[in-house]
Amino acid sequence: MLQFIHKYVLKYFGDLSRNIDVPLYLLEDSAIVNGIAFTTDSYTVYPLFFPGGDIGRMAVCGTINDLAVKGATKILGVSCGLIIEEGFEISNIEKILNSMREAALEAETSIITGDTKVVEKGRVDKLLINCSGIGVPGQELMQNYEIIKRSRDDHSSMWLITKNIRAGDKIILNGPLGDHAVAILAARGELGFKSDVKSDVAPLNKLMREALKVGGVTCAKDPTRGGLAGLLNEWAENTGLGFVIREDALPISSAAKAASELLGIDILEVGNEGKVVMSVINDKAEEILESIKNSGWSQASIIGYVTDSFKGVILETTIGGKRIIPPPIGDPVPRIC
Ligand code: MG
Repeated sequence: MLQFIHKYVLKYFGDLSRNIDVPLYLLEDSAIVNGIAFTTDSYTVYPLFFPGGDIGRMAVCGTINDLAVKGATKILGVSCGLIIEEGFEISNIEKILNSMREAALEAETSIITGDTKVVEKGRVDKLLINCSGIGVPGQELMQNYEIIKRSRDDHSSMWLITKNIRAGDKIILNGPLGDHAVAILAARGELGFKSDVKSDVAPLNKLMREALKVGGVTCAKDPTRGGLAGLLNEWAENTGLGFVIREDALPISSAAKAASELLGIDILEVGNEGKVVMSVINDKAEEILESIKNSGWSQASIIGYVTDSFKGVILETTIGGKRIIPPPIGDPVPRIC
């Protein structure tokens, strides 16, 4: 996917947006134009309903999260594009629209524009959703920026973009990896054992706001497609820095562990929802972790740190070994987002 984006998408679009605050070619979760964060995302998950959520909740939350992780925690509005297969039950559409409504209310935003298309039977798999969103930062992003500037004499961006990451930063994850993938596999009947794991798909704008109020968040990103391994390798590639992660600090639920052993799935490579990885300045790491835990993410953890002694991603295993974590080459569980 990354190769496709570089080879084709950036070839045609990469030079068009050079003068905006955060342009396309940086490949951040959102673009920033005239101080407004703007993002779009398509959702192809199947089945459409799964423990803990459905495609509608995912679409609204995923869009909000791509804005929130760049620092735009006030979501001005979300669009809703529906592509519906002819014959898809209206009762199911109603359930999905209601989930979108509830997710928007949870994040204190609204669905403000949209589009509906119906496609002949067999030409599309039941329902696809595209959402776009716009958001702006609150006062807390400025406060966060002031704290970062106090600890550094270089020029970081106010926005939480990759180039702000420095050696010495700590890496925080807000909760267990793999739950969303396990919930989807269970709904597909592919898990092979009974699990009560729910997808924790959720809007993260309030969580981001709390972390920014403490101050010291340099960059953030949601580990969706490609999982934690994809995210950290992207950060390593774009910063030239090394990311050291401690296996014993990684929150992973027992069901996700069991699924990974049984099905040979690497939990570090599967997509997550309702999760965020933050790079934070060392002095503030404990305080930010506390604020995340107090916001309801009790399993949040400082999972590692950034170093300039190598470039890439290394996992320090529980038994004291070191393992290189390469960028994922495939998608271990496709169409989960
Ligand atoms: Mg994202």
